[in-house]
Amino acid sequence: MVLSLDSPLASVPGVGPRRAQQLAQKALATVEDLLYYLPFRYEDRTRFTPIGELRPGVITCVQAEVLTAGLVGFRRSRRRVFHLAVGDQTGILYAKWFYGDYLQRVFRPGQRVVLYGKVEEDPYRPGQLQMVQPQHEVLSGRREPADSTESGRIVPIYEAAGPITSRVFRRLIFEALERLEPQLPDPLPKPLLERYAFPDLRAALEQAHFPEADTDLDQLAAFRTPAQQRLIYEEFFFLELGLVLRRQRARQARGIPFELKDSIREAIKKILPFHPTAAQKRVLKEIADDLQKPVPMNRLLQGDVGSGKTIVAFEAAIIAVENGCQVALMAPTEILAVQHYLYACQRFARTPYRLGLLVSDLPAREKNETRQELAQGDLDLIVGTHALLEKDVRFYRLGLVIVDEQHRFGVLQRLELIRKGREADAQPHVLVMTATPIPRTLALAVYSDLEMSVLDELPPGRTPIQTRWVRESAAAGVWESVRRQVAAGRQAYIVYPVIEESKQELKAATKEYERLSREVFRGLRVGPPTGALAKVGLLHGRLKGEEKEAVMRAFQRGEPQILVATSVVEVGVDVPNATVMVIEHAERFGLAQLHQLRGRIGRGRHASTCILMTPEEVGEPARDRLQTLTETQDGFKIAELDLKLRGPGEFLGTRQHGYLNFRIADLLRDHELLEQAKRDAFDFAAAQPAGFADTADYLRQRWQRRYRLAEVA
Ligand code: ADP
Ligand code: MG
Repeated sequence: MVLSLDSPLASVPGVGPRRAQQLAQKALATVEDLLYYLPFRYEDRTRFTPIGELRPGVITCVQAEVLTAGLVGFRRSRRRVFHLAVGDQTGILYAKWFYGDYLQRVFRPGQRVVLYGKVEEDPYRPGQLQMVQPQHEVLSGRREPADSTESGRIVPIYEAAGPITSRVFRRLIFEALERLEPQLPDPLPKPLLERYAFPDLRAALEQAHFPEADTDLDQLAAFRTPAQQRLIYEEFFFLELGLVLRRQRARQARGIPFELKDSIREAIKKILPFHPTAAQKRVLKEIADDLQKPVPMNRLLQGDVGSGKTIVAFEAAIIAVENGCQVALMAPTEILAVQHYLYACQRFARTPYRLGLLVSDLPAREKNETRQELAQGDLDLIVGTHALLEKDVRFYRLGLVIVDEQHRFGVLQRLELIRKGREADAQPHVLVMTATPIPRTLALAVYSDLEMSVLDELPPGRTPIQTRWVRESAAAGVWESVRRQVAAGRQAYIVYPVIEESKQELKAATKEYERLSREVFRGLRVGPPTGALAKVGLLHGRLKGEEKEAVMRAFQRGEPQILVATSVVEVGVDVPNATVMVIEHAERFGLAQLHQLRGRIGRGRHASTCILMTPEEVGEPARDRLQTLTETQDGFKIAELDLKLRGPGEFLGTRQHGYLNFRIADLLRDHELLEQAKRDAFDFAAAQPAGFADTADYLRQRWQRRYRLAEVA
């Protein structure tokens, strides 16, 4: 039977119902899925070494005849070892497998076999060479070594998928390739294939799985052979083409062109409590230009923690409201939503704007009321969390969507909110903001359908944060410096990784809160003029919405002076008088997270200190993270390193819905190809050469399955 890429895996010899089910669990359903499941490394088993030339310590491949085979038991143990002796004209080699009972049915004296593994000297029999647990293949009469998948060639090694081992994958893929239709259609446009001298799809698949014996092994290991590069390029090309087409389509959507009259400029100036930085002015202009166009804005605003994104968002909101539209501001946590709401109330106090807050924890009656007002157009600006995405939230005339700390949301959630504005037959403008700078490679892959604005300047008068890494044994000194700051009128954060006692002996925030307030900071007095006793507050994710709001309000007003908190304060919280942050068990936090946490201080004119506290012993990757933080405050540098340490998937968070589940490509390793593919996809979409329609069709059919993204061309 001839297979096509669309054939179900059950049509591949060796795949029965059970195996088909196991494969399906790994999202492998068709021949195409299987063939794009590529080896992650290769082993050179092209040359057989005569046994007489074997050296201990070398990984090698031997072809020989089985002399003896059998299980050997130990007297006082049930553990049995399978022993094999093989020989050629030059000598004898031994092999053993622990728990090798099943091998009794595999090996028989007289068979020709291939063993691949590391040669070592038997510790009990000096001079005698052996392989422990080698890879093996019996060259039975039926199968000639020429079509062996195990030896006599460069052998592909696959990541095992549940019960399906690398060995099984080799066999299945070999069988599938054997039966694949000879004229395999190639999805890549011909001119591109020619420009890069890429092999066609069929050749690329064959060579990527079963490279010719003379293939350069270093190139293979680096995924730099023409076959591998072609497959990587293909994946990037279609991703980028999808993004480009999506962007083109977005440009055709009808937006709401806002007017920017002088009266609006005046209104903006009135809410500003300070002179905007040059970067803020530039970015506002970029946004204002977009908002005046008849197509919806799609802009990403990147700016390090503390660069002043909030006020820029408020300025954009004014333009929308003055044009008779509603604005939705979505934040990833309740604490941040509440804080934005409070800040908005303060800034817009002297305007007639009507503001609302929508978070899950509010009483149902209040929520209902807010939803009703929103739907009737009685609210101009709504601040909220995911609660804004709920089905029964409707807008009267949504004109601008602002998503703060975008990296905490998935791509799809942004789209959901936008959709709420579609009723009015025009699409709302969208501004997404993030404090986690997106390294260029990632930005290319994930956000290439967005325009970029960057706030690359901190407001004036900030003093750099001093960051120190200290061991728990020096805690007394740390508390002393907190006492001094509080006595001088400043405030402090003390951050813990968890809120309740866990098995791993973490000091729980709640328990520590008691200890700190009763013992460590007892009798601590705030500086003049009041000289009152200092208070310690507690903030964690399990508090009710109103409780969180109350604690935040109080801390913002200056009391409590010390706030014991979990990482809920990670994003957005803004209290300029806070100048100390102690992060306990800092080794438990990720790099970007620590940077965000630290961004809570250093927001006012007083010098700030961040203290990373850890146990005496800290593992290697954590040491790198902590060291980096003490050395730099540059969010872009930190993001690049974080991306290297954690990889793109983790970096963006699991909420990205498998968006970056590349099959072959690796953003970090292959970023040059990504840039190339992006340029080509862009040109291709702009020129729309002959064959464009077919390529776009292919994209439409495959795109959604591959990247699980519904919203494409
Ligand atoms: P982020 O970009 O992290 O969201 P915020 O918008 O919270 O930063 O701003 C951080 C702090 O800087 C806030 O206290 C804000 O009032 C202040 N700020 C923002 N812009 C300026 C400015 N141009 N001059 C002085 N202070 C500013
Ligand atoms: Mg912010």
